[in-house]
Amino acid sequence: MSRQVLTTAPIPSYLQPEGLGPWGIYLQQVDRVLPYLGELARWADTLRRPKRALIVDVPIHMDDGRIVHFEGYRVQHNTSRGPGKGGVRFHQDVTLSEVMALAAWMSIKNAAVNVPFGGAKGGVRVDPKQLSLGELERVTRRYTSEIGIIIGPHKDIPAPDVNTNEQVMAWMMDTYSMNEGATATGVVTGKPLDLGGSLGRREATGRGVFTVGQAAAQRIGLDVAQSRVAVQGFGNVGGVSARLFAQAGARVVAVQDHSGTVYREAGLDIPALQAHAARHGGVAGFAPAEALTVDQFWDVECDILIPAALEAQITEANAGRIRARMILEGANGPTTPLADDILHERNVLVVPDVIANAGGVTVSYFEWVQDFSSYFWSEDEINARLVRIMQEAFAAIWQVAQDHKVSLRTATYIVACQRILHARALRGLYP
Ligand code: GLU
Repeated sequence: MSRQVLTTAPIPSYLQPEGLGPWGIYLQQVDRVLPYLGELARWADTLRRPKRALIVDVPIHMDDGRIVHFEGYRVQHNTSRGPGKGGVRFHQDVTLSEVMALAAWMSIKNAAVNVPFGGAKGGVRVDPKQLSLGELERVTRRYTSEIGIIIGPHKDIPAPDVNTNEQVMAWMMDTYSMNEGATATGVVTGKPLDLGGSLGRREATGRGVFTVGQAAAQRIGLDVAQSRVAVQGFGNVGGVSARLFAQAGARVVAVQDHSGTVYREAGLDIPALQAHAARHGGVAGFAPAEALTVDQFWDVECDILIPAALEAQITEANAGRIRARMILEGANGPTTPLADDILHERNVLVVPDVIANAGGVTVSYFEWVQDFSSYFWSEDEINARLVRIMQEAFAAIWQVAQDHKVSLRTATYIVACQRILHARALRGLYP
């Protein structure tokens, strides 16, 4: 009997990109790095297929007595370099495909800053603004219990992401611990301080965005203290970034969130805007400021534009209009590959998500280390270590971009994919 030539299984339907959604964008980003991987390219399919993808049913009792089912996901994209690590988001538009991309971006991000984690992400398709506090707790606990078979302090460590916070992490930690029969603080990061959380974690993503922004500005001869900044998203990432840029003397001229867009040429008073947003549920109606339409945000003249909301905000439709010298990606996946190309041609520097917003997971790593050693560091120590890691990672990536004459995104992928695939090759295949 002649031996058949066996080939890799065809890409299953759930791994097919849904148009140019986040997973499709990620696959294109991987294609761009392949020519730079040398021998390691033979392992590249590892990057195109998540290690594990779990879909869970999340039924809960609603306050009105109904039983409602939500759909949840946890994807472990890669664990070659360590346990899975990445946030959990609650959003009405969450899909498996989106979570796969977010998990993959975590693999790249964790390798880019060289923290010993793989990449993972989770999500529940639910609009948390429609839930009471009790319903939110029940969604969180049931979801945690369902993904409990694949998470754990040494397996996969969730954290906050869009619409999840310290309280949600406290419920996740408690649920996992109750099921295990022992308190396991290291199962999630981004916890409240009294439950093994870390000083500086809440601000870490914004602080990292600011640190990398400063380093990038310096490379292109832009003085942050004289710069104008526009921010999309005013949550944990956009809000903290805006505040740190304003503190450094920058004028934050425009802020957009789900409620609207506010503009002030002389610079917005960020603490006052944060107080307004906390009181009114968004930035809309803030005075003194001009209201802009959602679309006008992209025409704002500025030096640094910080997308810090959701994916695919900068596309071929608006990339040609952007009047910034630098895009500093606070969000995950805010720029499509076509938009990347347009911005590159227009000489707008794009500082990619996978380095710009890696501050959050870097301090998550510190939190996890502190939980295991039960010894907690001072905030100054945490911030100093964060800044050092971010600056060193950025400097290395900048150098790779210069050496290969590629964008910062491709440079980050070169550094990260080499680390991931080198670990993969060293470990070899089991069995
Ligand atoms: N959700 C954050 C991110 O996208 C943080 C993840 C973490 O700390 O594990 O990077």
